[in-house]
Amino acid sequence: MKNFVKFSICLFAFVSIAFTPQPETSNKETVVVIDVSHGGDDFGVQLGTYSEKELVLHIANQIDLLNTNTNLKIHFTRSSDFNATLKQRVEFINDLQPDLVLSLHINENKDENASGAELYISEASKAFVQAEAIAKSLQLQLKTTPINKVHIKKANYFILKNSEAPTVLLQLGYLTNDTDRKLLVDPSVQDHISKSILGFLSEL
Ligand SMILES: [Zn+2]
Repeated sequence: MKNFVKFSICLFAFVSIAFTPQPETSNKETVVVIDVSHGGDDFGVQLGTYSEKELVLHIANQIDLLNTNTNLKIHFTRSSDFNATLKQRVEFINDLQPDLVLSLHINENKDENASGAELYISEASKAFVQAEAIAKSLQLQLKTTPINKVHIKKANYFILKNSEAPTVLLQLGYLTNDTDRKLLVDPSVQDHISKSILGFLSEL
C-alpha cells in the first residue's frame, strides 16, 4: 500500500509538472505596421503599365490575405488606392507603437543597370539599433527569394527618422532594370516575396 501511495504521489507530481501551463512566450502578440507607400495621385515609380503604388499594394494585400497567425497583428497604412501624407503615416505609426514598421517601395534609376533590393535604416532614428538588427535578419530572409541581391543602406528618410518604432524601408528592386522588373511583375515571385516577408514577421 505504501508503495502504491508513493507511486501515486510520483504519478501525481509527474502529471502536475507535465500539464502545468508553462510560461507562454508563444502567445506574445507582435504588432507590425506595413507602410504601403504612395497611392492615389502619387503613382511612385512608373514604367509602361506598371506603377509602384499598385505593385506594393498587391504585395501588402497578399501578406494580409496569407496571415493566419493570430499572434501577428499587421496594420497597413493603406489597403486601397489613396495617398496618406508622410505626416499622417508617421502619426498612425506613433499612435500604434508597433514592434516594427516596414515601408514597401519600388526603386528607379536613370542607369538601367542599377538593380537589386535595398533595405534602408536611419541613424537619426531612436530605434536605430533594433532597426539595424531587423534589417540584417530581413536581408538574410530575402536572399532566399528570387530578389537575392539585397543591400543594407543608411538614409534619413522622413518615415525612418520620425517613426518611434524600429523602422526599415524596403526597396524591392528597380522597375527601370530589365531583370528586376521581370521579377517584380511576376505573380509567382510576388507570391514568394509576400510569403517570405510574412514568414519573417511571424518569427519576430
Ligand atoms: Zn517609393
